[in-house]
Amino acid sequence: MTRFVVDAMLGRLSLWLRLAGFDTLYSTEMQDNDLLAIAKEENRILLTSDEKLHNRAMEVPLETMLLRGGVDERVARVFREFDIPPRIDPSKSRCSKCNGELTEIGPKEKDRVRDLVFDETYKHYDRFWLCNSCDSVFFQGGQWRNIQEYMERIERLMKED
Ligand SMILES: [Zn+2]
Repeated sequence: MTRFVVDAMLGRLSLWLRLAGFDTLYSTEMQDNDLLAIAKEENRILLTSDEKLHNRAMEVPLETMLLRGGVDERVARVFREFDIPPRIDPSKSRCSKCNGELTEIGPKEKDRVRDLVFDETYKHYDRFWLCNSCDSVFFQGGQWRNIQEYMERIERLMKED
């Protein structure tokens, strides 16, 4: 499966790639040399908005993509380039915060997240996704609708040239 590393300017993009299920490294701490080294060592595609870094990556050579334009246009371009369907399936998502893998928690074992979410949330939802790395808990609350609406927007942008 395709894996990515993105530069510090592309935080929003990393979030959408993780939600779409792609192993995506992103950190504001990584310098250009770190990004190049990780892309090479871990065979990751480097996504960057920095032309100098993009050119350096091509000299190595590494697989890289230079991204211009607004955030939404960047997301749409990457999804189109790598044939990523603009639909989020939480059972395939990775943690949007840390890139960790998620475990689905069904109604029968929901007590596992008892202490990790607000009481109201716990009462109202029966399905959760727990990050194996950072213990973040996700569920299909109000945010879920925003996610779906955003993906509809990306789908429209993907159809434009
Ligand atoms: Zn996490």
